[in-house]
Amino acid sequence: MKIDVLTLFPEMFDGVFGASILGKAREKGIVSLEAINFRAYSTNKHNTVDDYPYGGGGGMVLKPEPVFAAVEALKHEEGFRPRVILMCPQGEPFTQRKAEELASERHLVLICGHYEGYDERIREHLVTEELSIGDYVLTGGELPAMVVIDSVVRLLPGVLGNESSAVTDSYSTGLLEHPHYTRPAEFRGWPVPDALISGHHGNIEAWRREQSLLRTLRRRPDLLETAELTDKEKKWLDAMKRETAEKSPDS
Ligand code: SAM
Repeated sequence: MKIDVLTLFPEMFDGVFGASILGKAREKGIVSLEAINFRAYSTNKHNTVDDYPYGGGGGMVLKPEPVFAAVEALKHEEGFRPRVILMCPQGEPFTQRKAEELASERHLVLICGHYEGYDERIREHLVTEELSIGDYVLTGGELPAMVVIDSVVRLLPGVLGNESSAVTDSYSTGLLEHPHYTRPAEFRGWPVPDALISGHHGNIEAWRREQSLLRTLRRRPDLLETAELTDKEKKWLDAMKRETAEKSPDS
């Protein structure tokens, strides 16, 4: 997979692209990651990439020419169009499903904004989609792009070892993940649940599934509406909901 990021601050990506799991994925040749400064594509004599907004008002606007030129200069196979993604707080909310969808692509291009906004023609005629990492506003698209890249790359085959499999992660299964424990079996009088030290694979799996359902019910009940559940699990969750309602009748 190839991921190109267009940014005015390529140095921000040095640490993220070079360290930990992303750094290893790059070393192994699983992914090619490149941060490209689109200021290099400015054609005016001061290399400016922004300008005042038509109609007045505060803030500067990213000009279309350098962004279009930078995307058009990217190399890709004849006839193949990469997905061109604009990082934007007004975009589609980024989710694990979206990360899974993007992980099956060959080439992604992420555009990081800065300043007040983008010239609207970038949205209308250059990008294939817009992504937001949450309902808040950051100073630039670099951190959002890093979030998207990290979550996509860790899903590529060969990137995660067995020690950190993505299969049971929260959201991958449609639920939140079960709790984890490691040694010691007792710490400050707090023991590890019996099921986990029983050595009985079936009991361990059953405990984990139940905990995952319970945690999702308490923290993110909205996820249960779309999660794949057996009839037995649905009945058990209904009973848990009733039990909680009886304990706190006012809530
Ligand atoms: N004026 C814009 C608005 O109200 O929608 C916000 C611009 S923001 C200060 C500058 C840049 O940061 C955006 O163009 C985008 O690239 C990035 N950005 C900020 N918050 C973001 C978010 N939640 N998700 C994705 N990108 C974001």
